[in-house]
Amino acid sequence: MTLATHEAVGGLVAAAVAPLPAVGFILAFLSHFALDAIPHWDYQISSLERNPADPLRNRVLFGRSFLGDALKVVSDCLIGLAVILLFHYLAGLPLVPMLIGAVAGALPDFLQFIYFVLKEEPLTSLQKFHVWMHATKKIRSALGGIVFQAGVLAIIAFLVIYCR
Ligand SMILES: [Zn+2]
Repeated sequence: MTLATHEAVGGLVAAAVAPLPAVGFILAFLSHFALDAIPHWDYQISSLERNPADPLRNRVLFGRSFLGDALKVVSDCLIGLAVILLFHYLAGLPLVPMLIGAVAGALPDFLQFIYFVLKEEPLTSLQKFHVWMHATKKIRSALGGIVFQAGVLAIIAFLVIYCR
């Protein structure tokens, strides 16, 4: 899923257990894999050379497309941050726990990036788990995929805000 969705859901999960930031961090980190298990849409990362036969052999190419990808990823992160701020100002959810949760929610994808560069343990084991958890079915349409992720986010936001 997009980093924005991972950040927002991680933030919401951590907000639900706000007095326990360490628990919030762990639950937000785990929420990443639960979200990835749902069939979803992801934007193209051109600088990632995929090995369909063995996803553990995927690698990052630091070429011209890397800058464009970095821009996509940074924009994605900023959208997630904006959603977190919206939850804070509109629904009164605690900001600091949400920020911790947002970092934890997005962290597995950053660790995945570091794995693609380094291919070292313990990242290899984590990457095996990440690949294993990741849905193989995909939503092809970008619009459909974004609407779907917004829907998943809205359900989780509803549960956290109204069940608090
Ligand atoms: Zn992921």
